[in-house]
Amino acid sequence: MDLSQNIQAVREKIAAAARAAGRDPGEVSLCAATKTQTDEAIRAAIAAGVEICGENRVQELTAHLEANAYAGADVHFIGHLQTNKVRQVVGRVSLIHSVDSDRLLRAIAAQADKLGIVQDILLEVNIAGEESKGGVSPADLPALAELARSLGGVRLRGLMAIPPVSTVSGENRKYFSQMRNLFVDIMKKISDNYPVMDSLSMGMSADYEDAIAEGATLVRVGTALFGPRPPMGTAR
Ligand SMILES: *Cc1c(COP(=O)(O)O)cnc(C)c1O
Repeated sequence: MDLSQNIQAVREKIAAAARAAGRDPGEVSLCAATKTQTDEAIRAAIAAGVEICGENRVQELTAHLEANAYAGADVHFIGHLQTNKVRQVVGRVSLIHSVDSDRLLRAIAAQADKLGIVQDILLEVNIAGEESKGGVSPADLPALAELARSLGGVRLRGLMAIPPVSTVSGENRKYFSQMRNLFVDIMKKISDNYPVMDSLSMGMSADYEDAIAEGATLVRVGTALFGPRPPMGTAR
């Protein structure tokens, strides 16, 4: 496993997928999903050109921040966020991808107000209607987006989705396409005086090329960069 070769290969595939869709490759950013990775692996990824690290767990985020492991890169929070952990995330990451309830949104905005900052966020959509997953339903999305716009402490930058794990190429394309439609819809609804909706976060190792074909501007890739992860809960 060669990290910098993997990064290069993923970058080339991102660019090729963008061009194949008639898009400018510069429109698509790579967010390296760093869950379970060590400080050293994160530093090596940044040295090899990774510009955004996406962290899932507050505990890992905090540890890597303390170790200054993200130096030279932007940090995003991409995992499920509990309201009581908002203080450990707001102002420490440049984008939170996973906002999916009124309560969480208000907590993030309140903490941002307290810090005197504006926190960039995405709203996570449960696009496949999966019981086990976070994310707002497409039906409840417009109201949550309105609320986001009304709160001074947050700036809504777009949407995020985690469709089911795909095993067959093309399987998730319908979800990516639905996400793109929702994104365009929401942009129209709240676009007045609100020109910053520019991010559609979707696509992981197994399906980022399909996501790019459907309009993703941010792909979150872990395994294809770092190799297989140890099972959850095992020591890092
Ligand atoms: C782990 C993770 C990814 C990356 O998954 P891979 O399949 O390893 O590329 C992307 N997004 C989120 C929210 C994740 O938790």
